[in-house]
Amino acid sequence: MYKNLLIISLSVALSYAESGYCEYGVHQHGVAEFSIAWSKQEIALDLHTPAQNVLGFEHSPKTDKEKQYVAERLAALKNAEQLFSFDAKAGCALRSVDSESPFEVQPTHTEIEVSYHYHCQQPQYLKGIDTQGLFKQFPGFEILNAQWITDKQQSAKSLNKNDTYIDFSPR
Ligand SMILES: [Zn+2]
Repeated sequence: MYKNLLIISLSVALSYAESGYCEYGVHQHGVAEFSIAWSKQEIALDLHTPAQNVLGFEHSPKTDKEKQYVAERLAALKNAEQLFSFDAKAGCALRSVDSESPFEVQPTHTEIEVSYHYHCQQPQYLKGIDTQGLFKQFPGFEILNAQWITDKQQSAKSLNKNDTYIDFSPR
């Protein structure tokens, strides 16, 4: 019984590893997961990343200087206006940002999760989301595995600094 469970959890960990995902401590530096759920006027963005991409390291900050640096980088990660852009006509405004304090998945690997919630006045004008700001503010992000569910479609795309746009228009 125990052995079967172990095999199941191992195979789950492996499939997460292949997708660059990190739930079981097998995350890949440079890679992050970005999920988007959009229904009517509400949009939720969820970013799940190795701390490495945000901070350049994953140990707990020790000196005051390190603590200050971590606080600044986390504040920048919550400053959504600098990271994501929406079609202006859609009138999307940030309503809230929630983040988990960096948490260790293994003694040497730490992850950060941030959720952004937007409300859009005129969602019919929303054609996509540009993540260019995130790549500019945080060069540690190399690959952003985006997946989205909207009222009209469900899709996925791997973004990088040269290809930062999530296109919601139907194909
Ligand atoms: Zn790591």
